[in-house]
Parts: sequence; C-alpha cells; structure tokens
Amino acid sequence: MRALTFHGARDVRLSTVADPAVLDPADAIVRITRTAICGSDLHAYHEREQGLDHGTVMGHEFIGEVVEVGADVRALRVGARVLSPFTTSCGACYFCRSGLTARCERGQLFGWVGDEHGLHGAQAEYVRVPLAESTLVGIPDGVTDDEALLLGDVMSTGYYCALRADIDPRGTYAVVGLGPVGLMAIVGARELGAERLYAVDVVPERLAIAERFGAIPIDARTAHPQQTLRDATEGRGADAVLEAVGSPSASELALALVRPGGTISIVGVHNEPHFSISPTQAYDHNLTLRIGRCPARAMIDRLIPTVQAKRYPLDAIISHHLPLADGPEAYRTFDQKLDGCTKVVLTP
Ligand code: NAD
Ligand code: ZN
Ligand code: ZN
Repeated sequence: MRALTFHGARDVRLSTVADPAVLDPADAIVRITRTAICGSDLHAYHEREQGLDHGTVMGHEFIGEVVEVGADVRALRVGARVLSPFTTSCGACYFCRSGLTARCERGQLFGWVGDEHGLHGAQAEYVRVPLAESTLVGIPDGVTDDEALLLGDVMSTGYYCALRADIDPRGTYAVVGLGPVGLMAIVGARELGAERLYAVDVVPERLAIAERFGAIPIDARTAHPQQTLRDATEGRGADAVLEAVGSPSASELALALVRPGGTISIVGVHNEPHFSISPTQAYDHNLTLRIGRCPARAMIDRLIPTVQAKRYPLDAIISHHLPLADGPEAYRTFDQKLDGCTKVVLTP
C-alpha cells in the first residue's frame, strides 16, 4: 500500500510499504477514507520528539471502513464506518475504567514505532487497529466524515483542555495558540459555559476562526495580551489559561496571563527537559497546573451530541483537502502555515 513514512527531520516521503495484517485476535484492519496532519506530527517531523524509527508510517487521525477483523472481534463487523481516537485502549484496565484511556495499560499511539516496537500510523491506505472493539467508534448519523475525523483527536483534545480549566460561566479565560487544537479548546470552553474567552495567536486566519467560534481574538503582534486580560479582570488576570502550543514561550505567556490562584491547562506537547515556569513562580501564583495527553476515547461519546447539534462550523478549521500522494508537500504547507493552512485532510 501507499503510505507517508518518516525518514528524519523534515523528510516525510510517499512510500510503498507492506499492507498491515491481523497480528492479534483483537485487531481490526481499517481501510482509511480520510486522514489528517496534526500539530503533534510536527514534533516528530522536526525531531523535537526523538526516537521515531525511519520508515514509520506517520499519523494518528483517521476514519475509515473495517475490512478485516481478528477472531475475538465480535462487536465490529466488516463494512462498518468507524472513527478512532489517536491511541488504542482496552476499555477494561484501571485507567480505561476511570476515563484516562490515554494511559491504558495496553494502549499504543498510532504512528509511533521506536526500536522496532510500536504501532504504525494512519497516513496510509490501511491501518492495523489493536484492541479494535474498545478503540474504534461507529460513526453515528448526523456526523460528517470531516467531523468524525476531528472527533478522534483535536476536538476531544480541545474539550479535554477546557474540562481541566474548571470553566465557570462568570469567569474570564484565555486560549494560547489557535491551531486546530486551540480552536477546538474554544469550542470546548464554550460548551462548558465560558462566556468571556480571549484567544491569542499571531496568524490572522486562525484569529478569524477563533472569533467565529465565539472568542475575542488578540493578535499578539499588534496587541498586548497581558494588558488586555488585566483590563478585563480589574488587574487580576484570567481565571484559567488553556495552552495549546507546547513551547516554553507559550507556557511563559500562560503564566503572565493567569491570575493568582488560577489554573493553566496544557495540552500542547512539551519536549523540553524542564518546565519554563519555575517552582517559585508557581508557588508565588498559587498555581494549579494540569498537563497531559487527551483520553480521546473517553471524550468522543460526550462530544457526539455537540457535533450533531451543529452549533459550530467545525470544519471551518479544515483549510486543505488533498490526496495522500501530496502528503510530503502538505507537511511543508501545514508546518510553514503557507496558503492560509490551518488543517490538512488527506484522502488515500
Ligand atoms: P499547530 O502547530 O497548528 O498550532 C499551534 C499554534 O500556536 C499556531 O497557530 C501558532 O501560531 C501558535 N503559537 C505558537 N507559539 C505561540 C505563542 N507563544 N503564543 C501564542 N500562539 C502561539 O498545532 P495543533 O495541531 O493545534 O496542536 C497544538 C499542540 O497540541 C501541539 O503541541 C500538539 O502536539 C498538541 N496536541 C496535544 C494533544 C494531547 O493529547 N495533549 C493532542 C493533539 C495535539
Ligand atoms: Zn493529532
Ligand atoms: Zn485500558
């Protein structure tokens, strides 16, 4: 089959690789009908995240059709249209039962193979899905293909970020970083009742979508985010800051924006060895800091009604639909934010 494979920094290629096969009775094989490039793929692409084997099939966002199932798979049939969280999960371990499916004892991240161990990704024609029954979700009525694709990661992750920001309708909030995840954090915060929500980035197209989703945009090139939040809160700062970037400068901005006793909820993937917020700063701020991978499998069910209600033009974040074969160029376009790119969907 054809797939996008990793070969070092900024080197993603369209390759021909072996078709995936059922290796375990709980596996399913899915024929991919849509896949997407995520900000998380860029960490590997730039080798900020190290240890990915060359030849790994990239990507963890996909929808498709089940074409083969292992002997233990009963609840899923061949032909089912499915969406998937970006990690697999067993549904039965301590973490799955408590809703932290991202830390399933048997879970794996799609598109991560290191030292020949791991799971190939979904920027391909087919993907092997371990723990298929407890991982995959049938695409319900009233959910389009693009919406289903967004549910599997960015919509769930944005919602999770907001969930951990303790949103109160009377509060004032700020989202730092308006990529697909930050934009979906706006949707999540709105769903949880946030009425006064600021959104910080430097990219005009992304700031415009933030405004469509109901946030007050702050262009950090021309405005002063800290002063704006202070002016809006009698000098205190935001009750919570939702950080969807994953860089020291973004964390530092989050700290500058949050009020004493407030919360910083981080879903940006950080690759630095230490927090750029010092223990002293955290102490002096009586700060609550939450950070981590989204348990998307646990978020999807509760977000399906939001999608079905069509309260937000969710697919406004998808700027590019391209064939899988254009993947290497699509990585460059998304990475460099060329051509107004906010999110790329690839069709095998
Ligand atoms: P993206 O690269 O498209 O978006 C990042 C945005 O942040 C860009 O618009 C950029 O202009 C903006 N930005 C960068 N530095 C900034 C700063 N200092 N202040 C304000 N804005 C700044 O990526 P994305 O797809 O939206 O993903 C965002 C982050 O979320 C990535 O780190 C990704 O790995 C992570 N992520 C985490 C999870 C999880 O489970 N926790 C899931 C998906 C993605
Ligand atoms: Zn993703
Ligand atoms: Zn589990």
